[in-house]
Amino acid sequence: MSVFSRRLAATLEERRASGLYRERLNLASAQGARVRVAGRELLNFCSNDYLGLAAHPKVVESLRRAAAEYGVGSGASHLVCGHSAPHHALEEALADFTGRPRALLFGSGFAANTGTLAALLRAGDTVLQDRLNHASLLDGGLHSGARLRRFAHNDLDDLARKLERAPEQADGATLVVVDGVFSMDGDVAPLAELAALTRERDAWLMVDDAHGFGVLGATGAGSTEAAGLGEAEVPVLMATLGKALGTAGAFVAGSEDLVEALLQLARNYIYSTAMPPAIAAAALTALQLLREEAWRRDHLRDLVERFRRGAAQLGLPLAEVHGPIQPLHVGEPDVAMALSAALRERGALVGAIRPPTVPAGTARLRVTLSAAHSEADVDCLLDTLGACWSRHAA
Ligand SMILES: *Cc1c(COP(=O)(O)O)cnc(C)c1O
Repeated sequence: MSVFSRRLAATLEERRASGLYRERLNLASAQGARVRVAGRELLNFCSNDYLGLAAHPKVVESLRRAAAEYGVGSGASHLVCGHSAPHHALEEALADFTGRPRALLFGSGFAANTGTLAALLRAGDTVLQDRLNHASLLDGGLHSGARLRRFAHNDLDDLARKLERAPEQADGATLVVVDGVFSMDGDVAPLAELAALTRERDAWLMVDDAHGFGVLGATGAGSTEAAGLGEAEVPVLMATLGKALGTAGAFVAGSEDLVEALLQLARNYIYSTAMPPAIAAAALTALQLLREEAWRRDHLRDLVERFRRGAAQLGLPLAEVHGPIQPLHVGEPDVAMALSAALRERGALVGAIRPPTVPAGTARLRVTLSAAHSEADVDCLLDTLGACWSRHAA
């Protein structure tokens, strides 16, 4: 047996033994309040389709029409001949919506983060990241050549201490990077304070708003809008199109020079095939719906508060967060798995989140709500949680 064969078998065995083995669902339906899995219809409380746009008829129709006109594949990277009118229109709409001079599309949020950090940073720089930042930000920081330091979650004092010692070299730059909304905890970064602190120290702030974009702020432009911050305070804004916008891909928005430099330097942008133009067309329609239909955000907020009231009455371990991500902490992975299985047995799909996605000892159920849900759906989830919780947790 080769070293690889032995190593792979041992790694898989170790994952199984520690209760951390992962399996995929195989859906036989579109995303929505209900999904079909293994011949059963389940109420879906684990999608990031927060506004219910992933299968919206107008979004689907845009994709269909653009595919008829532009075909399916983009054919090349943006810089060769893969950049088409739908991509361009989407970039302009995203820049306008986020109040930034320009925006640049990437194939995925993972690529946008790793590509942007590698292009911005060099040896002698320092990148300071919240401990709970998304894996793509941490990977991007590690591979950037800059010195990577992680600060305690949402801890401004810890960050201030680490900013004192940055950058590594006199002519180096310092970048502070946070998730706007933390994906597994649902809490928000203290963006106004972070912006003040970074500006004081002549550093830049980058916000990954994958979970705030479309959900937070008066117009849905995200956590930076909610905090009243523009490009001067948050020079690098990244968000994904695969969550609230219900499509796929991501963008980085900022100054003319930032976007032009990413276009020239970001390897994940330059050496990667552009997303299909029809996806860009669908995302543009989703963005229009997001802007026109404020009721989606209002309804989502009402559902979140309804869920929280009911969960509090049941004595469930709610976190002090008021967005569509509602974690219920249970601690050990086997408890989270047992609860998730029991809920599914009764018709509710809720993800169990375990290490290494979250720190050891903090396994949880991650309930996500969507504007696609009705009040009755939320009540049904609460009934199901009530029936399962005491048997498996407590
Ligand atoms: C989902 C996510 C990403 C990655 O985006 P993809 O488009 O799915 O690759 C990046 N950052 C955060 C915070 C995310 O939740």
